[in-house]
Amino acid sequence: MISSAPRVSSSRFSLLIVCLLYVLFQVSFDFMLVEEFITILKNFPKKHIATMILGFMLLISVSILGSKDFSNEEKISELTKPLKLLTLTDNTQIKIPLLEKEKLIKRNDSLFTILKELGVLQEDIIKLVNSNNSNLLSKIEVGDKIKILISEKGELNQLFYQDNIREGIRADKKENGFIIKKYKSDIEKVKVFKHVVIEDSMYMSGLRENVPDSVLMDLAYINGWDIDFTHDIRPGDTYSIIYEEIIIDGEKVIDGDILISEFNNRGKQFIAVRFDLDANTSEYFNPNGENVKKAFLRSPVKLSYISSKYNLKRRHPVLHTIRAHKGVDYAANKGSPVRATGDGTILFAQYNGGCGNEIKIKHSEDYVTRYCHLDRFGTRAKVGRKVKQGQTIGYVGSTGLATGPHLHYEFHVNGKHTDPLKVKFPNASPVEEKQAIAYERKSQNLLNELNNYKYLIDRGEVYGG
Ligand SMILES: [Zn+2]
Repeated sequence: MISSAPRVSSSRFSLLIVCLLYVLFQVSFDFMLVEEFITILKNFPKKHIATMILGFMLLISVSILGSKDFSNEEKISELTKPLKLLTLTDNTQIKIPLLEKEKLIKRNDSLFTILKELGVLQEDIIKLVNSNNSNLLSKIEVGDKIKILISEKGELNQLFYQDNIREGIRADKKENGFIIKKYKSDIEKVKVFKHVVIEDSMYMSGLRENVPDSVLMDLAYINGWDIDFTHDIRPGDTYSIIYEEIIIDGEKVIDGDILISEFNNRGKQFIAVRFDLDANTSEYFNPNGENVKKAFLRSPVKLSYISSKYNLKRRHPVLHTIRAHKGVDYAANKGSPVRATGDGTILFAQYNGGCGNEIKIKHSEDYVTRYCHLDRFGTRAKVGRKVKQGQTIGYVGSTGLATGPHLHYEFHVNGKHTDPLKVKFPNASPVEEKQAIAYERKSQNLLNELNNYKYLIDRGEVYGG
């Protein structure tokens, strides 16, 4: 008995905490509906949710401890007072906060096993299965997610089955069963503005300003026809972009597309505006409506460096005589893919003296490209066959007169050799006449928006990074 005295007081103390916490919860719950509570839960940083769950578990454990003490110490008369307190709080109908639990569906899982595992009462699982529309929940798929809101006793209150990030099926408890129906998440697109001053590379400087990786890749692609990101970038070059973030139910899910980009490279400005040509195709155009995409790629070999430029007075490395070099040499590993630099038709594909394995592509009446020293031909390299820009036509080698593996690339305009590094490439198709007005409006709006952001940055009123 003596030893039990301190336990009595500790149980009274824990009861007091229970009551206090109950009152606190009650007050907060009077101000918010359960649904609001759920949204708050969803929007809460994970750390906070963990803290809340911890707090809640503490609350449960405290109350369990408290009640255990009572059953063990029934003879102690003093205990009647706190018991009364408990009854009092019971009468005021406490709303117990619900726990959120979720599980990723694995092989051999069924709705029954999952709910059982999450601690749902068997009678509630049966009620759910017997509710109208329960067939909607019969086809659960591996990799999808089931999320539930459950009371501490295991009473199922709400269930969400996420089919994909945008939609799913929900079940809400109603009297003696559940209402099961499909739901769609709220999708919102938010515009994000970034302004980056390049210190080293376009990519690294962008990452430092928290521009997402995928957006930087898009930026390199959009401007890749005008700017060589390996050789042309200088410290102090800048770029400003507006891109989209896709938000589902208040949470950022995907980094979307660049809507407009402005790149300032060595004093030259390149602006690209995204424009939907139809429901499935979008392309980028400059403010004049010209496609930023060129009819030709800058380089026929991706991972390469220029080992010899166009030079009409070059000493030939094998023949050691002055012989014009009427093309550009790209040094690359043997077997590197060689790309068609523009859409066209294969005009020639066979071994041809000093050029070795040679391919010629006719792009239009005006343009022909020539590729030499190929190790082997690609499957598309058949005379008369059409090829698309970027498709592999052969592989780098050193056939013919060559000291090592490289691609000798020529660009002919109207039958004349031209320096492929200096020639101004024609643009890909511009905005069509019938869409000109729509494009004009769209590009003007985005340009204004971009300039407004830049103006605010200059005045220090918005954080641009
Ligand atoms: Zn060459």
